[in-house]
Amino acid sequence: MVNPATGEVFAEVPDTSPEQVDAAVARAAAAYERWRWVAPGERARLLRRFAAVVDAHVEELARIEVRNSGHPIGGARWEAGNVRDVLDYYAGAPERLAGRQIPVPGGLDVTVHEPLGVVGVIVPWNFPMPIAAWALAPALAAGNTVVLKPAELTPLTALRLAELGREAGLPDDVFTVLPGAGPVVGERLVTHPAVRKISFTGSTAVGTRIMAGCAAQVKRVTLELGGKSANLVFADADLPRAAATAPYAVFDNAGQDCCARSRILVQRSAYDRFLELLEPAVRAVRVEDPARETAEMGPLVSAAHRDRVAGHVEGARVAFTGARPDGPGFWYPPTVLLADSPADRHWRAEIFGPVVSVLPFDDEADAVRLANDTEYGLSGSIWTRDVGRALRVARAVEAGNLSVNSHSSVRYWTPFGGMKRSGLGRELGPDALHAFTDVKNVFIATEE
Ligand code: NAD
Repeated sequence: MVNPATGEVFAEVPDTSPEQVDAAVARAAAAYERWRWVAPGERARLLRRFAAVVDAHVEELARIEVRNSGHPIGGARWEAGNVRDVLDYYAGAPERLAGRQIPVPGGLDVTVHEPLGVVGVIVPWNFPMPIAAWALAPALAAGNTVVLKPAELTPLTALRLAELGREAGLPDDVFTVLPGAGPVVGERLVTHPAVRKISFTGSTAVGTRIMAGCAAQVKRVTLELGGKSANLVFADADLPRAAATAPYAVFDNAGQDCCARSRILVQRSAYDRFLELLEPAVRAVRVEDPARETAEMGPLVSAAHRDRVAGHVEGARVAFTGARPDGPGFWYPPTVLLADSPADRHWRAEIFGPVVSVLPFDDEADAVRLANDTEYGLSGSIWTRDVGRALRVARAVEAGNLSVNSHSSVRYWTPFGGMKRSGLGRELGPDALHAFTDVKNVFIATEE
């Protein structure tokens, strides 16, 4: 493992072989036959205990993430705390996962939410802890067992979470972490017949392949994929606030955020003023050693990724950039690009780094057209003081998570997911439980 802030190699994690994947899935399948029958109250108690153990290790988990992923320590603490909160939230589920009783003649009809079996969870490197928890917690709550494959670059916190689960008393093989390569470990989970569902978060390219793999077995699949979200700023908005928060909306986690509002659309009459306000906010972003309490942005996850991001900026019109520390590490400065047209490559591609493109629009219809002119549909923001416009535009923009006069996308008790090629299905909130169960209908005849 490499520390992205220094380039130093500090740990090695062995890859799981295909035979080890098969053995782990077999153990998880056997564990499922026990776990699914554990009384709901006991499953709830174990999840609450898991949350408490994570709570006691927030600082440790955060420090691991700083070193392995380069996340600023403040953000990493939030991420570990989010794992605790998500486990705690879904601990309320086992005792509430109720079916319905439907009136029918000649008997009693009831529905039951059955768990699926072994769930394969495949996660990316950008938010290793929360994204793992968003699938893990509802899957376990509903009575499934989980085999999780972390990203090659960032397996350390997932491995530690598996240890903490055991410490909390989770039965053996209910939650297993298998580090290794996507095309080996990930693909084996997708094709293994005993894995009944894949919960995948990652790029649209890999997600498309995974969906095709799942189709062969009609395997359940949830996909949380890429994004190129719009930040729509109307001339009647609170411009200073929209500009002051726009850097946070795209440079958080160095732009390695599927929800990053990486296309800023500004109404033409406010365009110059908005850029004037944006420049000092971008220059003020504190890009520094992520272990420092003051860090707002750290390095990118790897040298290869930093070079990929730089490639997207080559030849583009740069408006201004922020700070970038000297020295080793995979640093890239916050960068604001001016788009000449929606055909610009940097306007269309998910760059997944601290790069944002700005383009003017004329009116509401133009704004909606430009916002929707993308294959993605994950998140977005709308800045306006006109309530009617906010509602009209929120309905018209094709994205799963929209915020009005805010950049907030994720609350663990509300649904999260994408439209179009940004994904399939929803995580978080009460709806996520249904992604980890099948509805069974049982009719009981009451007549001879
Ligand atoms: P990626 O698609 O390259 O990898 C994601 C995971 O899939 C990794 O664990 C990888 O090892 C595994 N994988 C790769 N090839 C595989 C294969 N053939 N079969 C099975 N598994 C395979 O994505 P990444 O570069 O790690 O993450 C960045 C991407 O994730 C971005 O596109 C980002 O938008 C997306 N993302 C989406 C969300 C969301 O909730 N919508 C959240 C975070 C990240």
